[in-house]
Amino acid sequence: MYDFVIIGAGIGGLVTAASLARSGQRVLLVERTGGVGGYARAFRRGPYTFDPAMSVFPQGHDHALPAALLEWLGVRDECRFVPLDSNYKAVFPGFEFETPFGLAEFTDVHCELFPEYAGPLREFFALCKRLHKEAHDLPPRVGLAGLDEAARRFPVLFRYAKATTADVLDEYFDDPVVKSAVSVLWPYLGSPPSRLDFVTFSTILNVYLEGCFYPEGGFQSLADAFHTALRKAGGEVVLGRTVTRILVEDGRAAGVELDDGEVVRAGTVVSNADATATFTELVGDEHLPSGFMKRLRRMTPSTSAAIVFMATGMDLPGAGAVHEVFRPLHLDHEETYRDVLAGRPGGMYGTVPTIASPSMAPEGQHLLTVHCTAPYDIGRPWADEVKVYEERVLDAFEPVFPGLRDSLVHLETATPRALERHTANRAGAAYGWANTPNQTGAKRSPHVTPLKGLLLAGHWTQPGTGSLRALVSGLHTAQLALLERDLGPIEFTHPDFPPAS
Ligand SMILES: Cc1cc2nc3c(=O)[nH]c(=O)nc-3n(C[C@H](O)[C@H](O)[C@H](O)COP(=O)(O)OP(=O)(O)OC[C@H]3O[C@@H](n4cnc5c(N)ncnc54)[C@H](O)[C@@H]3O)c2cc1C
Repeated sequence: MYDFVIIGAGIGGLVTAASLARSGQRVLLVERTGGVGGYARAFRRGPYTFDPAMSVFPQGHDHALPAALLEWLGVRDECRFVPLDSNYKAVFPGFEFETPFGLAEFTDVHCELFPEYAGPLREFFALCKRLHKEAHDLPPRVGLAGLDEAARRFPVLFRYAKATTADVLDEYFDDPVVKSAVSVLWPYLGSPPSRLDFVTFSTILNVYLEGCFYPEGGFQSLADAFHTALRKAGGEVVLGRTVTRILVEDGRAAGVELDDGEVVRAGTVVSNADATATFTELVGDEHLPSGFMKRLRRMTPSTSAAIVFMATGMDLPGAGAVHEVFRPLHLDHEETYRDVLAGRPGGMYGTVPTIASPSMAPEGQHLLTVHCTAPYDIGRPWADEVKVYEERVLDAFEPVFPGLRDSLVHLETATPRALERHTANRAGAAYGWANTPNQTGAKRSPHVTPLKGLLLAGHWTQPGTGSLRALVSGLHTAQLALLERDLGPIEFTHPDFPPAS
């Protein structure tokens, strides 16, 4: 009998498990694959180590929450965040620019690029900052009685709560090229401006502008650090076993059943797995309110990705590469998204992780990973399409790094099916629920579910998409899981994670 059983060893599951074990609880973590990390689980090809998905980690500073958490867990030295020199470069048809960190510097670059829009650009980025601050300061739970007061204190947040990024771009700019330059990072969130929640866009922009990092050796080192912390604190991990059912007794989650029929009893279950699978397959409709299941079935997963993994002997930094290079093939992101839906490469950015972490390839070589926003279903088998797709990605990046194609020493492509196999996220969803206004913030699945004793951690729950948010969700879930069992608040504190009241 365990106090807590955690389903899935993505970043969210690992942080929940490690935090609960550090709090003195008996914890079991069950992961269906042979290794920990989910989307952070690296793979090797000969001398190359590839990150399967992630490329950028915000908040890697010594004073920020992730470092403090690693410290509290006793594994601060296990993961080194390497600061990136440049925010991103964008190579559009006909023009390109590179952006620095720091909101003021970032704004200046855009103003120099489009001097006739300097006024609206300054106002737009100031709005994004204000929105980010209000979203950060908003208390996690605002009851009906507190709504008026909250609307007074957070006017910008309330005004734009239902806005898409395109709505606000239209409010500030009349030039489609300016709009596209400003919103070029949309592929980080998987939805084009016409669908992308504006609060999420503003938050990501501001958090990233505070500085971005890459974990030395890849994101696996972050996952491994949490795994080590879990084991150091006495937690147990079972790899290569799938949870097939969540036991429900007297209206409460009481443990899990594994693929070989073994039953593991626990006081509380935390799921880091796909949210729909958690409720429909592991729990079952009969244990959940019909209204809740109806809303769940109406929710939309994010897009997936097709990822081209390359190794090259080319001097990519010498050819102008920085860590992240966005490569829109159209001036209009909506046109790019039409390509995406039709199964053509779009929403693309190339990452060169070996600039920050040279040990991932032999000396004198670089890795280039091109992430493309992609749907799971393109109306024809991905397997038939993948070679043509790969060629198109190479065509897109050849002008950026002339000679790239001929310099390649390794080339392979993962489709949305591979992402689904890797993590069991529904339809290979890259970011949990799609980041649309009706599925973000308080409208994303809450940590606490209608089934007592079952909580969620990871990108399907709040605060949302990405490794940092999955990490934060893991902490919150650990906190809430302890409180639900009257086991007191978690001992970890940080200005961005105040003690529970
Ligand atoms: C192409 C791409 C690029 C991205 N780029 C970035 C980036 O640069 N920066 C960033 O911060 N984020 C990025 N993200 C998003 C980020 O990777 C995810 O949001 C985050 O890692 C999700 O973590 P998670 O905790 O929700 O778990 P996941 O990574 O989704 O892992 C879930 C785990 O649960 C396991 N599991 C599922 N079902 C079961 C079961 N029944 N039994 C046992 N185990 C089970 C799975 O095997 C898996 O290991 C990217 C994602 C993709 C796909």
